[in-house]
Amino acid sequence: PPVVGVLAVQGDFREHLAALAGAGLEGRAVRRPAELEGLSGIVLPGGESTTIDKLTRVFGLREPLRGLLDAGVPAYGSCAGMILLADRVVDTAPGQQTLGGLDVTVRRNAFGRQVDSFEADLDFAGVEGGPVHAVFIRAPWVEEVGPGVEVLARSPEGHAVAVRQGNLLATSFHPEITGDHRVHHLFASMVNEYAEKARANGRHA
Ligand code: GLN
Repeated sequence: PPVVGVLAVQGDFREHLAALAGAGLEGRAVRRPAELEGLSGIVLPGGESTTIDKLTRVFGLREPLRGLLDAGVPAYGSCAGMILLADRVVDTAPGQQTLGGLDVTVRRNAFGRQVDSFEADLDFAGVEGGPVHAVFIRAPWVEEVGPGVEVLARSPEGHAVAVRQGNLLATSFHPEITGDHRVHHLFASMVNEYAEKARANGRHA
């Protein structure tokens, strides 16, 4: 199967590795630039986006990761990973940077103190078989989307919490911790399509 990297500097990368396996993909923990070679997809996990940002820069991963995104390699970010993919973030920590690529404005820690963490069953466009059980943990929401961005799911109050733009997928919540791998299957279909095309073009996928 195609190999998908999971950025493993901080956060719930182990859960993503397990969920990728559940979706029929081979996962690879990425801590060094060389581990980004030959990937057909990349996952940015949940965790703390400020820490992941800092460590990504310290480990020399920022530029090669941006290179992957620029090359159109499919990427999936959950929660902190969504923040890392966003072009614009409201309520960043001082000095916080994102990788960018996704034409959205994300509000960090958007759901506020009272409801830091909550769960809800959400309809998810492109995911068959009933609502997806969504676990939100100090989660962001998507406040504005650019013209090329599709909203796939909304919170009960109507905030966009799952989006897709081309090969970029992001969720405010954490499908990697529920044992339901349907969102990872959706990502797997993006990865498999990319890997097929890369093979057909004679490139190393
Ligand atoms: N609040 C975290 C951040 O700003 C995200 C939380 C999460 O990934 N569960 O990065």
